Amino acid sequence: MHEFRYVNGRLQCEGVALDALVKQHGTPLYVYSQSTLEDHYQKLDDALAPLDHLICFAMKANSNCAVMRTLADCGGGFDTVSEGELRRVIAAGGDPRKCVFAGVGKTEREIEFALRKGIYSFNVESEPELIRINKVAARLKKTAPIAVRVNPNVDAGTHAKITTGTYENKFGIAFEEVEGVYARARKLKHIRLRGVQMHIGSQLTEVKPFELAVRKMLPLVERLKARHALEFFSIGGGLGIIYQSALASAAPEWWQASAAKKILTPAKYAATLVPLLQPLGLRIIIEPGRFIVGNAGVLVTRVEYVKRTGRKNFVIVDAAMNDLIRPAFYDSYHEIVPLQKKGGATVSSDVVGPVCESGDYFCKDRPLPKVGEGDHLALLSAGAYGFVMASNYNSRALATEVLVKRRKSAVVRPRQKIEAIWETEQPAPWQKR
Ligand SMILES: *Cc1c(COP(=O)(O)O)cnc(C)c1O
Repeated sequence: MHEFRYVNGRLQCEGVALDALVKQHGTPLYVYSQSTLEDHYQKLDDALAPLDHLICFAMKANSNCAVMRTLADCGGGFDTVSEGELRRVIAAGGDPRKCVFAGVGKTEREIEFALRKGIYSFNVESEPELIRINKVAARLKKTAPIAVRVNPNVDAGTHAKITTGTYENKFGIAFEEVEGVYARARKLKHIRLRGVQMHIGSQLTEVKPFELAVRKMLPLVERLKARHALEFFSIGGGLGIIYQSALASAAPEWWQASAAKKILTPAKYAATLVPLLQPLGLRIIIEPGRFIVGNAGVLVTRVEYVKRTGRKNFVIVDAAMNDLIRPAFYDSYHEIVPLQKKGGATVSSDVVGPVCESGDYFCKDRPLPKVGEGDHLALLSAGAYGFVMASNYNSRALATEVLVKRRKSAVVRPRQKIEAIWETEQPAPWQKR
């Protein structure tokens, strides 16, 4: 469920009209709903209540400090993948002791930083990494808490670029090799075997792949727990969200009727997984990113031109792939709606940005209400993997981000100044004039 809906024909977020925000802050504009973030966190927290659990928000999905502050205030920890992310946790007021550190390429410097900050666990992706962590910990006279990321070789049945749990990709240690790795890791003096981890992919809309992966892992986790006194089992993130009919999904009735629909609610997820996990007697960690923040954000853009060619109706907007790369990168669908509700016939349209790439489009041949120059559109469900993947391609400034909470709104990142894009660049000494 989320807090974006039409009220008297105007698209609102928690009682704040988005066209009013546009007047104040311009476009392209990311708008996040704090109550939606809190609701999603709470729904997961409630669903997992029968278990000793920790929710580590996968901050790569959205690392704006205000978004992170919201989740830290809910009691959440963070799933981090770099020194930069860990530093951001601290800047946002989060607790490093509730952080896990994932990723296949941790550098010595990153490991040292994480150790000094006392993170909860390193999610280790290879044996060379384990040896490196042990070495750095020895140098600092510390003990590094670790979990091995197991690749359970279960196909999540999602987009190829977001599948992570099969032997075709770079993540984790093969299921069959894991026990050997733990046995060898145990001999490393500066390693503490604290848990075991998996993450099979993203945007999973059914519970089945999670269930298959957990069932496959259970005997292994039992054995590892018995042998090495593990404390936790992290089942990763990956809960999918609604991208189509995103607006309809704001309605409580729609949400309640969801049992019949093909969407994965925390209740469904927990109904299947909690009974499997409970007998383990371990702390369970989940690392949701998209589920918490995806539907909690929209990207608002202005229509600059409507260009009709022989075959096509192009709606050219002021946001582009540098602001939201998901359609270009993952073929993703984002629902696109006008800020002022429009009746009448629809026109099959391509919504495109101004960037010089054919891949710079938000939708193709989609029936949309007729719009013209100066109208505004919202790209829904843009809260996850949106702003975080933005770039300065075409020397376009990074968009403004606004957080809304119950009729209040605040800029949580001002629009980047155009000059700031090249501020730190300089000519080589021999080019000075
Ligand atoms: C990306 C990632 C997540 C979060 O994935 P979502 O689909 O956004 O929930 C969690 N854990 C790991 C290890 C990841 O790489």
